[in-house]
Order: sequence, then structure tokens, then C-alpha cells
Amino acid sequence: MSFGHIKQNVERILEEIPDDVELVAAAKTRTHEEIREAIEGGVKIIGENYVQEAMGAFAAIGRAAKWHFIGHLQKNKAKKAVEVFDIIETVSSADLAEEIDRRSRAAGKVMPVLIEINSGREPQKFGVFPEQAFELVEVIAGFSNVKLAGLMTMGPFSGDPEDARPYFVETRKIFEKIKAKGLPGVEMRYLSMGMTNSYMVAIEEGANIIRVGTKIFGERG
Ligand SMILES: *Cc1c(COP(=O)(O)O)cnc(C)c1O
Repeated sequence: MSFGHIKQNVERILEEIPDDVELVAAAKTRTHEEIREAIEGGVKIIGENYVQEAMGAFAAIGRAAKWHFIGHLQKNKAKKAVEVFDIIETVSSADLAEEIDRRSRAAGKVMPVLIEINSGREPQKFGVFPEQAFELVEVIAGFSNVKLAGLMTMGPFSGDPEDARPYFVETRKIFEKIKAKGLPGVEMRYLSMGMTNSYMVAIEEGANIIRVGTKIFGERG
């Protein structure tokens, strides 16, 4: 898909999804011009997988969009991540949560985070297994400068979006259970699930954030 279609791609997706679902443009490897075109099309949130790449994009684009971190965050990048990102979607350990808390306090911020659930229990993927989620919820609830705002999951990749449904259903159940606990300082607002091939299924199963790369920008080179 050539440069020049990005704006229309975004417009088409925004027409298709309900108003209360937020579209994150997953921008790994894309140029600043491509990201700008997505914003022109109506994208309000940019998703970045790498802090270094995000710093460059952020320097060019700034607060014309919100920034979500959707990759694997290394502790030694937490300080920079706290400067740029509005939400960190991929917290999967107490250690990382503690480091984000410490860096956010130093920056005078409260950082909303999502816990990443490894719903497919895939050894090569990050995220906590479903049964480990509550332990991490309680840890995060104890911090003052990091605030739990929901869950994120990838699910195993498959060509068939229906294959993703059970993983989305399970993540939604965990989301509802955490929400029902009504823990102080925890506000379960966001359920981030679904990518190019699975976002409609994700929305059917309760996602209110979808992360789309290929369908906006074209195949990655
Ligand atoms: C790249 C990426 C996406 C988007 O994937 P596409 O299939 O290109 O839409 C979503 N979430 C994460 C975490 C990603 O790294």
C-alpha cells in the first residue's frame, strides 16, 4: 500500500468502529511523515514499541497526538518512557511497575498503565499469565505514581481472527474481575485488544482500545 492512502485507511477504520473505541496507530518502523498523515486522517493516539524510535517521532510530532507504549519496556528505559508516554500498556512485572513509579514520582507525574496479559501462554511473548494478574494488580495498587487503568493483550497470531476470540474472552473476564474488586486507586477503563486482522472480534469481546498498524500504513517492509 503506497504512501498517500494512509489518511483514507484511517478514515475507513474510524467509520467502521464505534465512537467509544479508541484507535491506536501502531507506528513501529514508520516515518514521521507517515505518522503525520495518520494524524491528519483522525488518529489521536500513536503506539510505539521502542523508546528510542518514539523519542525521534515525539521530537517531530510532539503533543499533536497521545503516545502509548506497546512494546516490551526495559527498566533502564523507564525514565525516558515516563517523559514521552501518556499510557504504558505493557507492564508485566512488579519490578518494572516499581521503576515506573519511581521515575514518575521524580518527574512529578502519575503514569496510567495497563497490565499485559499473555493470554496465549506463549513462552516467547511478554506479559503475565492470566492467573498471575491479581498479584500484579495488588502490587500496582500499592504505588502512588503509577495507576492501574486496565489490561492489554496480544493473543497468539493466526490468519483467522476467530482463533483470537477465546483469548480476548478470557482477558475480558480478568478485566471484569479486577474491576469488580473496586480497589482504591485502580480505575479499570481500558481494555486494549485486537490488531489489523482481529480488531472487529476484539471489539465484539469488549475492547475499547485497538492497535492497528498494517491496515493503516500498509505491510511493513
Ligand atoms: C505491531 C503491533 C500491532 C499492530 O499490528 P498489525 O498487525 O500491523 O496491525 C499491535 N500491537 C502491538 C503490540 C504491535 O507490536
